[in-house]
Amino acid sequence: MHTAKNSGKLSSSYFIPRDASRESHLFKRVRMMASYSFPHHKDHNHKIDINRNRFFIHLDLDAFFAQVEQRDNPKLRGKPVSVGGGKGNRGIVMTASYEARAMGVEIGMSVVDARRLCPDLISVPSYGTKYEAITQNIICHLLELLPEDCVEQYSIDECFLDITPVANDYFQAAKFAWHLKTMIRRIENLQVSIGLSFNKSFAKMATKLNKPDGLFIVREENLDVIHRLPVKKMWGIGHRMEIRLHSLGIRTIGELANSDFHAIHKEFGINGVILRKIARGEDTSGISQHVERVEKSFSHNHTLSDAIYDDSRAMDEIKRMTEYVCRRMRSKDLITDHVALSIRFDDLGYRGNKVRLVHPTNSEKEVFHTAMAIYRKLPQPNSNYKIRTFGISCFELHKVSGYNLDFFNRDHLIPYKQMDFLKDKYGENIIRLGLGNG
Ligand SMILES: [Mg+2]
Repeated sequence: MHTAKNSGKLSSSYFIPRDASRESHLFKRVRMMASYSFPHHKDHNHKIDINRNRFFIHLDLDAFFAQVEQRDNPKLRGKPVSVGGGKGNRGIVMTASYEARAMGVEIGMSVVDARRLCPDLISVPSYGTKYEAITQNIICHLLELLPEDCVEQYSIDECFLDITPVANDYFQAAKFAWHLKTMIRRIENLQVSIGLSFNKSFAKMATKLNKPDGLFIVREENLDVIHRLPVKKMWGIGHRMEIRLHSLGIRTIGELANSDFHAIHKEFGINGVILRKIARGEDTSGISQHVERVEKSFSHNHTLSDAIYDDSRAMDEIKRMTEYVCRRMRSKDLITDHVALSIRFDDLGYRGNKVRLVHPTNSEKEVFHTAMAIYRKLPQPNSNYKIRTFGISCFELHKVSGYNLDFFNRDHLIPYKQMDFLKDKYGENIIRLGLGNG
């Protein structure tokens, strides 16, 4: 996830249509199912049982951007809202509130078309950095509950979790899912839908079966809820594939599951075999770490248990987060071009800004001073206006080797490498840099 160059515009590349006049199918995410996730794809009689005792969760924020805007502005609650259009009738709908969806408004429509269906539609601009800060905060909390390699951020409003380490059976898994829903309501006051199953594909399909604010469990005993669905509801099947499957007489996911292996292989090759495997519940893919995306930005969010307004505590918090993010950049030999700070106040309003650095860096001194400069320009907290969450992110990352190291001459005095070594060995608090006052 990275932050957009223009604030106000949504940054996640998934959501930016190349041509606003085109329709919603552009928004359908295409997922490449890697064949290495299906080592058994050639042996169609192979019985898959390695996933029997695994538990995957797909978590999806309901109508994410619209929900956030309704949360932050009481005047929008209960009303049809679309997020993403500019002023007037321009732009396209990125997310629509459930009230707008009930009137037929769909993601990817132009605001003009949406207004025709729903004359009372309130179109508000999207605020990408705010949504990203929320997503990051949720991910940070998930990482406190699960190992890093069990959390996959799939998009700005969806993630997969492998909860096998914390659940032995569906009872425990469902309990954990409810805990996540409560936690996200507590930390962000947002509702999510959760799908729970023994593999990722079914978990994702399960989410859709109980939305909004739902939890749906697909296990072997109730597999027919999936198998009854039309093939187009299957994750990975687009419009074209649907037509081709129909021409083979395959209309439901169950029919695909029970289809003839050779016919599918002949018609679609490996892709068809994999889709048939998914329909049969034989998706053995695990959590994938989006290395590339992770390295586009490093963010850290922290929600305080007690809101604060004390200047030195705020500074301390920003310092601590800067150290953390810079250390992560250094561990990957990355330097950043941009620093963003976002702060959530007790009224749930977000304030933040981002700054482009003159020279790319991974030194906490510079990142800290930049973050503090942003902080100083924001509304300052007081006893009636306290800070609840801090978020810092560094984006536009580059490999150190690609840059002229002369930039770093100033910083060679700071023994970062040794410091990081000590922190790795003895913990985060063993050594702190005196960074001065921002
Ligand atoms: Mg969503």
